[in-house]
Amino acid sequence: MEGVAMKLPCLNVLNHKHVGQSFATVPLGFRRFSSSAIAAPVPASLGHVVRRDFPILHQEVNGSSLVYMDNAATSQKPNAVLSALQNYYQNYNSNVHRGIHFLSAKATDEYELARKKVVDFVNASVPQEIVFTRNATEAINLVAHSWGRSNLKSGDEIVLTVAEHHSAIVPWQILAQETGAVLKFVGLTEEEVPDMEEMKGMISKKTKLVVIHHVSNTLGSVLPVDEITLWAHNVGAKVLVDACQSVPHMVVDVQNLNVDFLVASSHKMCGPTGVGFLYGKGELLSKMDPFLGGGEMIADVFLDHSTYADPPSRFEAGTPAIGEAIGLGAAIDYLSGIGMQHIHDYETELGKYLYENLCSIPGIRVYGPMPSQTVHRAALCSFNVENIHPTDIATILDQQHGVAIRSGHHCAQPLHRYLGVSASARASLYFYNTKEEVDIFIQALKETISFFS
Ligand SMILES: *Cc1c(COP(=O)(O)O)cnc(C)c1O
Repeated sequence: MEGVAMKLPCLNVLNHKHVGQSFATVPLGFRRFSSSAIAAPVPASLGHVVRRDFPILHQEVNGSSLVYMDNAATSQKPNAVLSALQNYYQNYNSNVHRGIHFLSAKATDEYELARKKVVDFVNASVPQEIVFTRNATEAINLVAHSWGRSNLKSGDEIVLTVAEHHSAIVPWQILAQETGAVLKFVGLTEEEVPDMEEMKGMISKKTKLVVIHHVSNTLGSVLPVDEITLWAHNVGAKVLVDACQSVPHMVVDVQNLNVDFLVASSHKMCGPTGVGFLYGKGELLSKMDPFLGGGEMIADVFLDHSTYADPPSRFEAGTPAIGEAIGLGAAIDYLSGIGMQHIHDYETELGKYLYENLCSIPGIRVYGPMPSQTVHRAALCSFNVENIHPTDIATILDQQHGVAIRSGHHCAQPLHRYLGVSASARASLYFYNTKEEVDIFIQALKETISFFS
């Protein structure tokens, strides 16, 4: 590999097909900003203000103050969530929907209140449309199993993008093997966002389902979900949105987007691990078969057959993650207290700062679109530095500087293959990160690079 002088930000690379491509046109795949949507100004100090709510951030790692930039893998938890968990286990731990005693009634109320908080957070219509799962992965598998098996047959097509997370690919591969359905993958444009013209052309009468991420965990690109939903619905197909990287960072309204299914994980939005959710349109969920069988999900059980409860119970077999769902509810309260639009605006600025500073480093290659007035990019950057393995970068950043970033394929191996690399380093921000932390990271990265050269 040889170095290429940087003309456009972050295309100064290195076995990249499209060096020198023009950015003059704004492709359809880019989410447009509406300037009228800008509300009250976001304090530039948001990160500083909220940090005190996150005890884990205030520690030394390998002799340096921790700089946590692995938020796309999982987020940290504020005191409000920690105490909701503690309060549940300490004061009213009990099983839900079963006992008539005081603690069980209290646990049931709080668990159902948490569901109501998710309903409001994503603007679902009714609580029956929100199913608690173990995580987003389980939610996707639920749809593949319960909707996919009875709605797909040989030759039916599922349209996805090459940038999907493994969780949004593998369940459909398994389903395709069982049913004979066919997976079709949309590639990327020169700007490294999923190609929306290609997707529009690929969605046909054969399409039964479109599976898309809302925000890419590797490229940082944002898909125009509402437009894609229109194309899909025009041919009678359903849309499943992997919203793991959007729900924690921006306002997501399932009714506005008019999606059929949407999934997210609690642990990426300040909530505990062990819980996630599926949004499904009421009319779809009510017709779907169960996923797992057992307690909670039944109406009546006889020795030779059973009848099933209505959604959401039909899809929540066994004792759920009660305290964790309640913790998710506390996370939603916390995020709503700050305001998702504020979080989004703050992160947009910080993400741009990260991107621009990274791009000023010679020999670096940052994947995904260049942010601009018209192009929104999530506050994460996956990158490679000429002649240095990303794992070496991540290791030195951790050991020498206390900076936590990820290295690997970020559960997006097909995307990395498409980009012509096996791995990348990824710095991903949340609203508790600050400009000063980005400065520390950039300085540490520069020192790491010079260490190797
Ligand atoms: C994290 C993530 C997932 C999987 O989430 P789990 O919590 O591991 O189930 C799926 N898609 C995207 C885009 C993600 O970032």
